[in-house]
Amino acid sequence: MTYDCPIREGARLRPHAEALRFAGQTWTFRALDEEVTRWTEALAARGVDQGQRVALLSTSHPAVTFLFWALGRLGAIFAPLNARLTPAELMPLLEDVEPRLTLALGTLRDRLPEAVVLESVPDGVTASSVPERTWDADTARVILFTSGTTGRSKGVVLTEGAFRASCRASAANLGAHPAPRWLGTLPLFHVGGLAMLTRTAYEGGCLLLHERFDADAVNRAIDTEGASHASFVATTLERVLDARQDRRLPATFQCALIGGGPVPTALLTRARAAGLLALQTYGLTEACSQVTTERPGEADGRTAGPPLPGLEVRIVGTDGETLGEGQEGDVEVRGPTLMARYWRQREATRDAFHDGWLRTRDVGVLDAKGRLTLLSRRTDLIVRGGENLYPAEIEAVLANHPAVLESAVVGVPDSHWGELPVAFVVLRPGHALPDDLDAWCRQSLARFKVPTRFVAIETLPRNAMSKVERPVLRKHARSHPPYQPGS
Ligand code: ATP
Repeated sequence: MTYDCPIREGARLRPHAEALRFAGQTWTFRALDEEVTRWTEALAARGVDQGQRVALLSTSHPAVTFLFWALGRLGAIFAPLNARLTPAELMPLLEDVEPRLTLALGTLRDRLPEAVVLESVPDGVTASSVPERTWDADTARVILFTSGTTGRSKGVVLTEGAFRASCRASAANLGAHPAPRWLGTLPLFHVGGLAMLTRTAYEGGCLLLHERFDADAVNRAIDTEGASHASFVATTLERVLDARQDRRLPATFQCALIGGGPVPTALLTRARAAGLLALQTYGLTEACSQVTTERPGEADGRTAGPPLPGLEVRIVGTDGETLGEGQEGDVEVRGPTLMARYWRQREATRDAFHDGWLRTRDVGVLDAKGRLTLLSRRTDLIVRGGENLYPAEIEAVLANHPAVLESAVVGVPDSHWGELPVAFVVLRPGHALPDDLDAWCRQSLARFKVPTRFVAIETLPRNAMSKVERPVLRKHARSHPPYQPGS
């Protein structure tokens, strides 16, 4: 089965409908189609052809969407790079993808001096005849680099079929909408951002693209631009609610997906009290974003919901046996949204799959209704005397302490217990490390889960995807003197 470019299809079926908005500018499907055609001709003139890669360093900008669809028409592969990376971090990724063309947004070009300025692409020579390619389910569309919190950064190859299947499954779960208006606040170099870009195009909706997350701009888009859907991580949802002082949402807003990391149930409850249907979701780059998401009619915020229609999730034990409900083990996923492979990493690809199931390297548990609760990443798990400790559970308890802004709990080796939990705590302004953190944890947690040390830290080390760098903390914990209550 072959597919047509959804922007061209949109220009044919609904030429005057809004397709894209950015900083007060609007593109209808027809206008967007014209831009994409211009970009396709300009890229062809620069020698970009089927199967070749085009690397991009950019924050969210309309030109990124023109580029994405134009590359699709040429059968070329989009390789977006995280805009927060340093030149030293970018180099190995560029060597890995071997791009035909490297582009950078004008304001970021100092980090990649060899790159062509993104905005200048359509101003150059254009090709008069463009060899247009059709797409099928196996056409590679994107190489997305994971952040490397579990090792070396790997390029995830996602196909046209994976994006289409993901969009279909998401829409089937969230319920029909005549023309969704997704808030595009996640970066387009992340699978979450690309999921919004593709979902709106395939469903004939409009992408409300924001250069970066800004809680006031989000609230304006919700209140005055008819935003119907959004995706947030827990901290950005909190900022949106704080900024609108829990003011109720208009009926035009259908729901928000919250994921990317642990999501406190209390936050989802708070959102729903403000009339914001916030659904917990679990996903990963290797599965083209969502794997499980709460169902709108049954959401209670306690789990990350059941698998999206067409996807399967199973929990596997240490010997590879499938476990039943209530049993904790490794999460594996099967379905049409999975990556094709890791780019040029055969061995890593072989390790990632297990009889067609993707090993997520997350630990979780399914309930009787097939809903998933995420417990930890396999590598973050702390095993103390044979008992599993989940950092997210301990961090959620610490987060409720009035002096604690955020925390991260990591395991350090111990000759007797195997590992012991150490908590790194960022304090709210004006607070010293409280004496009662141990007692506070004991109120809600079994004794063996209570950290044996609490270490005050100014900020948590985070990587370019804003994920906590636990290996850095583990190293720090090993060299840091033990904390004595009251010291
Ligand atoms: P790497 O795999 O190199 O560490 P990464 O962290 O950037 O890269 P992503 O695909 O961006 O990988 O993030 C997916 C991960 O985020 C999941 O594997 C899971 O650990 C975590 N995650 C996603 N949703 C949830 C959720 N609802 N609850 C807890 N964790 C979640």
